[in-house]
Amino acid sequence: MLAWFSHPTRNGLWLLLSVLFLIAGCKSAEYRAYVYDPIGATLTEDKPLDPYHRRTIGFAEDGVWFTNEFDGARLNDVVRVSPFVYELTISAENTPINNSAWYGFVVARGDAPWMHGSGDGKSVDGGVGQEFGEGDSRVDSLELTLHLRYEGGTHRYPPKLMERVGESLTEGMGSGSTYSYRQIDSIQTMKIMPEGENIHGLKLRFSVGTNPVLITAQRLETSHSLQDTLQAWAARYPSVHVDTAGFSSENRPIPGLIISQDTQIQRPTLMVIGRQHPPEVPGYEVMRSFLHRFASNDSLANAFREAFHVVALPMANPDGVDRGHWRHNARGVDLNRDWINFNQQETQVARRYFQEKAASLGQPIYAIDFHSTQIHLMYPIEESVALDGPAISTPWFDHLLDPETGYPFEVAIEPFDTSGPVAKNWFWRAFGIDALTYEVSDLSTPEQNDTAGEIAAESLMKTLLTSLESLNSLN
Ligand SMILES: [Zn+2]
Repeated sequence: MLAWFSHPTRNGLWLLLSVLFLIAGCKSAEYRAYVYDPIGATLTEDKPLDPYHRRTIGFAEDGVWFTNEFDGARLNDVVRVSPFVYELTISAENTPINNSAWYGFVVARGDAPWMHGSGDGKSVDGGVGQEFGEGDSRVDSLELTLHLRYEGGTHRYPPKLMERVGESLTEGMGSGSTYSYRQIDSIQTMKIMPEGENIHGLKLRFSVGTNPVLITAQRLETSHSLQDTLQAWAARYPSVHVDTAGFSSENRPIPGLIISQDTQIQRPTLMVIGRQHPPEVPGYEVMRSFLHRFASNDSLANAFREAFHVVALPMANPDGVDRGHWRHNARGVDLNRDWINFNQQETQVARRYFQEKAASLGQPIYAIDFHSTQIHLMYPIEESVALDGPAISTPWFDHLLDPETGYPFEVAIEPFDTSGPVAKNWFWRAFGIDALTYEVSDLSTPEQNDTAGEIAAESLMKTLLTSLESLNSLN
């Protein structure tokens, strides 16, 4: 942290920021916004959320119901347009907001949970059903057309359809532990039609059989599924230590992860953060596979852990994730614009956690913040920016993006200065280290993301081990 004060240019910046803070009453300083940011994105004091209700909406005429009563859901309203045709409203948590129109809901046939005993829902039998083989879950499947209408944004994420297999309809959906979904094949996802030039929604036609269907903008990864993952790792790998960094404003735990051979020994530490922005699941998947690779019991990971620690906050915004937000936390704020003001509880927790781990485990050497966007994109710190530690991004990219390495994505690289209030720049400000915002394409598949995370971790381990060797040879 104190490395900061040894640097003259950053001293100047710090003074300037301090003055800004004083003028602005300490916490409402606005910073240069990013080109894609809406007005006020870097003002990070609490903003009101628009009303949102968790509920199940049934249509007895068709025997069809919709629900958003589970974590990660977003469905604001449903209106029946004609038999088996519905218009669904998908609204952001508040506006203005970056366009990341997240949606998530379950649609099913028959009796909604609250319909039991009414018998209305059964009128669907023999209606628009189609013939399928015996034992097939598509028996008597019904074709539905849904118009998704976005408020506050436009269509961004192709829908993922999963069919619920298992017993009860919504039981366990909040816990993440008792349900399993089967991906629906492309035949049943019949058509996706944009509504003309200025796309504010999409039309989705698909068959729903006897099992409920989950439709989400990206794969459903909630705070509960992360907890399950971390518990499984901790049980399997002696080097994995899971703790709670703190709590969100709605009191959800913000899990911390340490991958270390021996936490009693000070070592250079790699710092990782993810899921500040709820819909950015591909970036989360790469991060998960990336972190997992450091825990493995093989010669590379063992050598790495003999020289380095890894500290991570894999889900910095659990409220936003579980509420199905497009971008913000439960206080309506973009957390990745709050790394100078620190108005929000989640950024305060993250700052304290990384500072404490830096003090107890060792000086950070590099930091990565995982996100997703339209393309595969790396935002490193500009090479002209002075660092107190080694430059890591450039030698890492040289290795990672060499065709021999086998990284599955084509990647654009866009260096940035360190003025903005994003996490990457805080790592530089706080520790003087090189840092990176790592963006994964919205459209990448889980398999690609698993591969990418693994290869990225292997490549970074080699880069950091080489960097350490050259540092040692200088001493
Ligand atoms: Zn993001």
